[in-house]
Amino acid sequence: MIDGERKLATIRRIADINPIPGADAIIRLTVDGWELVSAKDNGFAIGDLIVYFEIDSFLPVIPAFEFLRSRCYKSTAHLGEGFRLRTIKLRGQISQGLAMPLSAFDIPNDAAFVEGYDLTELLGVKKWEAAPEREGNSFGPTKARGNFPSFLRKTDQDRIQNCFGKVKQWATVSIQNEILELPEDAAIPDGVYKMADGRYVRKTVVALNDNELLERGQFEMTLKLEGSSMTVYNYDGQYGVCSRNLELKRDAENVFWKTAVNTRVLPALIHGGYNVAIQGELMGPNIQGNIENLAIHGFYIFDVFDIERQKYLPPAERLEFLVKLANEGLIDVQHFNRVPNLGVVSLTDFPTVKDFLAAADRPSINAKRAEGVVFKSMVDGGPTFKAINDNYLLAQAG
Ligand code: AMP
Ligand code: MN
Repeated sequence: MIDGERKLATIRRIADINPIPGADAIIRLTVDGWELVSAKDNGFAIGDLIVYFEIDSFLPVIPAFEFLRSRCYKSTAHLGEGFRLRTIKLRGQISQGLAMPLSAFDIPNDAAFVEGYDLTELLGVKKWEAAPEREGNSFGPTKARGNFPSFLRKTDQDRIQNCFGKVKQWATVSIQNEILELPEDAAIPDGVYKMADGRYVRKTVVALNDNELLERGQFEMTLKLEGSSMTVYNYDGQYGVCSRNLELKRDAENVFWKTAVNTRVLPALIHGGYNVAIQGELMGPNIQGNIENLAIHGFYIFDVFDIERQKYLPPAERLEFLVKLANEGLIDVQHFNRVPNLGVVSLTDFPTVKDFLAAADRPSINAKRAEGVVFKSMVDGGPTFKAINDNYLLAQAG
C-alpha cells in the first residue's frame, strides 16, 4: 500500500462461517484474514459477496447503520456524528469490522461490483480519529513548509488480514502479466482477466526455483513503535524534515527538526551528499502519550529510501548504509536508534494469519503491550506488511 488512503469499505466474499461455542444467536464470519461476529439471522452464506467495513471505520448516520447506535455512536467536533467500528470481543470471540449485504445500500449493482471494489467514498465512510491529526503541534511550533515531497514515499504497510493471500502467493509462485488487445466482442480466453481500466491481461503462473523459494520466504521482523512518523531527506542539496503528511518549516524549537539535527542524521546526509530519505518513528515526551516512557526524544529508524532509484533499500543494504554513516562518524552513535529488530523469520513458520497475530502479541521496549510487528521482505522490492496486536486494540479506549 503506497500513499493509499485506507480502503475502509470494500466488496469482499465470506470465506467461512463457524459457530461460536456457547452462543446460539451469533456466528463467526471469516472475511479474508478478518474474523467477525454476526447475528445468525442475518442469513449470510459462505461465498456471499458483501460489503465489509474495517475497524476504524466511522460510518455515516443512515438508517442502515442505526442498529449500531447503542454501541458505536460518537460525535466529535472534527468528524461530526457517526458510528465507530472498533475491535471488540463477544463471548470470547474477537470481532473486527462489519459485514452487510450489498442490498442494504442503494448502490448500482453493475459489473463494477467485483471483489476488492472500494466503496469507502461512495458510502461516506471516514477514518475514525479520536482527535484531529495535528502533525505534531504539541511538540513546539509546527508550520508546514509544504506538502510531503512527491519524490518521497509516505511510510505505511498493509495489514496482514488484507494481504495474506497476496504475500503467500508472492512467496511461492511468480505471476507474469501480459497485456492483451482484444476486440470488443471477442470471447475471453482461459486465464485472461478484464482489468478495472477495461484492458485484458493474461496471467501465467511460473514456478520459482529452489533458490528463489528460499529467498522469498525470508522476512525481517521489527517492532512496530507507536510514535510519529518522521522523514529526513537530502536530494541534491535540497534537504528537509517531514512529519507523516507534511514537510515542516525549519524551527529550532520544533521537535522533528531538533531531533533530525541532534541525532546528526540530517547533517550526515548533507555532508555525505547522499540522496536518500531516512524514515523512522519519532519517540519521546509528548508524542502519542509516550507509551514507552522515554526521557528524551529519539529517532527510531526503520527505512532508507533511495531517491535517485526511487526504491527502498532491502533490510541488509539498509543496515549496511546506516553502519557506514555511523563508521564515518557522521551519525551521533549515542542517539543512533533503530526500531528493535526481532530477527529474520521464515514465512513457512506462519501458516495462517493467526500465527502472525500471535507474533504481534508481545511487550514493547518499555510498554507492556507492543502495538504490533512489521515484516519486510529481505528481497529487493518484495512485500512489506504489519500485524497489529489484537490485545493492544482491545485495550484501546472506547
Ligand atoms: P500505522 O501506525 O498503523 O499508520 O502504521 C504505519 C506506521 O507505522 C508507519 O507510518 C510508521 O510511522 C510506523 N512504524 C512504527 N514502527 C515501524 C516499523 N518497525 N517499521 C515500519 N513502520 C513503523
Ligand atoms: Mn502509528
